[in-house]
Amino acid sequence: MSTLKLGCTCGQIQGLANNVSPKKGNHLVCYCDDCQAFAHQLNQASSTLNNYGGTEIYQLPPSQISIRTSADQLACLRLTTKGLFRWYAGCCNTPIGNTVSARIPLVGLIHTFIQEDQLDEKIGPVLGSVHKKFAVKPIPDTLLGPASQAQLVRRVMGKLLIWKLTGQSRPNPFFDPQGIPASPPTIVAKDH
Ligand SMILES: [Zn+2]
Ligand SMILES: [Zn+2]
Repeated sequence: MSTLKLGCTCGQIQGLANNVSPKKGNHLVCYCDDCQAFAHQLNQASSTLNNYGGTEIYQLPPSQISIRTSADQLACLRLTTKGLFRWYAGCCNTPIGNTVSARIPLVGLIHTFIQEDQLDEKIGPVLGSVHKKFAVKPIPDTLLGPASQAQLVRRVMGKLLIWKLTGQSRPNPFFDPQGIPASPPTIVAKDH
């Protein structure tokens, strides 16, 4: 098990992801248009998206994430009223991660918030890519990763079930025990 240092670009928000390992989480790249819209909304596309429009994320339960400084700078937006809660640093717009809701113990931690040079040693290489049809140009095979989207979805669902059964929604830096988000989300129109 390893610990990942987390932090926004300006350094105000710092945290840790604890007990990570290649087996425990899901390291993947999401090419969906919503992840792309989120990066563009924050004016962070160049630091967040790869050349093909993909966002590298590591999925883990919220209980493994602790925010140690400036948690009050956490900010949130949703691309629609029912969209994911997409978290970023209010101080410097660094994308932080995505959550579905308070009840689903899954965070898609975005690489921009992970301050590690040897990331793949700690969380393993990218397993696969999802929502490839939204890629802005054809993705080279070498970047795709070995797992298919169906395999990744099965893997995520399996882990999510375990995380749910073992109560890993708590503690949760993004939602209080009543399910209230740490920062009220701004709803932004998707096609900015
Ligand atoms: Zn910052
Ligand atoms: Zn996405």
